[in-house]
Amino acid sequence: MEAADFVRAWEAGAAETTVFFPQNLNDLLTLRKQRPDALPVAGGTWLLHNQSSRFLKLPNAVIDLHLIEDLRRIGRTESRIDIGAAVPINRILSAGKNILPRILLETLGAIATPAIRSLATLGGNICIQGRTMSTHPTLHILDARLEFRRAGGSRWVPVTHSRTDGRLCIEPGEILTRIRIPLENWNAQYFHRIGSNPISGFEDVLVFSAMARTSRAIITDLRFAIGSNHLNIYRNRDMETLLVGRKIPLSRRDTTNFLQTLEENLKERQPGLSEFMRERSLSLIGRLLSNLPPD
Ligand SMILES: Cc1cc2nc3c(=O)[nH]c(=O)nc-3n(C[C@H](O)[C@H](O)[C@H](O)COP(=O)(O)OP(=O)(O)OC[C@H]3O[C@@H](n4cnc5c(N)ncnc54)[C@H](O)[C@@H]3O)c2cc1C
Repeated sequence: MEAADFVRAWEAGAAETTVFFPQNLNDLLTLRKQRPDALPVAGGTWLLHNQSSRFLKLPNAVIDLHLIEDLRRIGRTESRIDIGAAVPINRILSAGKNILPRILLETLGAIATPAIRSLATLGGNICIQGRTMSTHPTLHILDARLEFRRAGGSRWVPVTHSRTDGRLCIEPGEILTRIRIPLENWNAQYFHRIGSNPISGFEDVLVFSAMARTSRAIITDLRFAIGSNHLNIYRNRDMETLLVGRKIPLSRRDTTNFLQTLEENLKERQPGLSEFMRERSLSLIGRLLSNLPPD
């Protein structure tokens, strides 16, 4: 396949941008190899969000992903759901309404407006570099996995291992193709966002996601993650296991000790988190712990 097969020229203001429209995954992967400089575009809402001038500013070459059927599929088994990287968020919300974990539906439903969500994709959200976006803490605690493909190869990576200092670990020539979400039962799920949305980079922002599983008034699993202006998500599995095996309702002493330890850990590991957001995080986890259902 020749890259030129896909080319259409697009006048973007004074500069000319070449837009490629691959029709299937094979063509896309070949194109990624031939044109590593070309930027993939899914919904384009991130790339275009801050453009106020009369003409759009685009890179020299972009690859439009929206014609690739493989990236727009949602597949399901008993234990998991695989979401194509270019499925618009609104479609995930309608197709996954009675299937996806409630926390993921809440997280996706809190992104932007319905009009933007009809274009914006989960894949695009995951691939934004250099900051924590709304879905990142939730995907962390769900133990989601990401499929990356390139010409001649593919790999699955746990979301928990996919970022360093806010950057997605994607190799040259790769594309994010699918997001795998395990379908498990959680009897407490909690998503909360404070502050402006994560696209206004300089504001104080907090994205808090937590889930717990209880059985016969015992905590059997607890997971929580905090996203903020700090580039790395806060997740501490040692903290999460501290309360596993405890009976609910938790004693005041257990809750206070837990929150004190968490406060110290947040100060140490998230020094950029403002005092206000640290206190909000403690209050959110405190609220979750005091409202755990027995079963
Ligand atoms: C008004 C407004 C409000 C918003 N509010 C929120 C919010 O509350 N929370 C939030 O998290 N975001 C928000 N956003 C940002 C953005 O809309 C979303 O994050 C959205 O999910 C991005 O998806 P997209 O498909 O539009 O990404 P795109 O703009 O298409 O791409 C984003 C980045 O990912 C890369 N990319 C896309 N797909 C792939 C792929 N398959 N493989 C490799 N790289 C890829 C692109 O090259 C680009 O660098 C908002 C945007 C606007 C305009």
